Amino acid sequence: MAQRAPLVAGNWKMYKTEAQAEEYIQGLLPRVSSVSGVEVAICVPFTDLRAMVDSARGSRVEVYAQNLHQEADGAFTGEVSAPMLAELDVHGVVLGHSERRELFGESDRALAQKVPAALAAGLKPILCVGETEAERDAGDTERKLRQQIAEDLVEVADDELADVVIAYEPIWAIGTGRVAMPEQAQEAVAFIRALIEGRSAEAARRVRILYGGSVKPGNARELLALPDVDGALVGGASLDPASFAEIVTAAVA
Ligand code: PEP
Repeated sequence: MAQRAPLVAGNWKMYKTEAQAEEYIQGLLPRVSSVSGVEVAICVPFTDLRAMVDSARGSRVEVYAQNLHQEADGAFTGEVSAPMLAELDVHGVVLGHSERRELFGESDRALAQKVPAALAAGLKPILCVGETEAERDAGDTERKLRQQIAEDLVEVADDELADVVIAYEPIWAIGTGRVAMPEQAQEAVAFIRALIEGRSAEAARRVRILYGGSVKPGNARELLALPDVDGALVGGASLDPASFAEIVTAAVA
């Protein structure tokens, strides 16, 4: 069985000015410096990237963006490209978060280009997928996951699939305090792994699949112990360095 290093990534969303981010990283670094066997990432607003890359340099904390444009450059006012992020020494990028899909019209067609654009620039993509509450209630969870995995990863070669991190984030559990039951999380994550296996057995063994949705210090250990769950994408609880560090520690417990 392949060894997959767990990844715990904090998604700050649109929180923290640069000054607040500096204060945060000074609180986080000592708390996670001695925790080994888990990758740690913070996914920060564009305006915090340079400062966080500089402050985290040489530490175990990697710095990710929360979006990119699929083109390297062009007349796309307000957008930021993968080469721009790579030049800042950013490690990775969250793609397809449900807030971007719902509020900003991010489409599977765009994601099919964004994921390869990130990989080509040497950025690690975290691709978010997941169903709404109505889709779950209608028994549509597997259909939705199958469609997102098929469409968003269509341009990624089989031998590059394992370089993508997938985050299963049931939309009804994001920011709601309603966490998926461990059986629901395991079932969905195992289903995603089976979808990847349909393309490459080797990629399925290596690809990391995270759970995201109201992960907190109190529930992290149980979720992170699930056999197919390789880490967590954490929103609200990542905004405080102490609670985020507790979740990081739970990943190796
Ligand atoms: C997220 O933003 O990806 C997320 C999972 O948020 P929360 O942990 O707050 O539910």
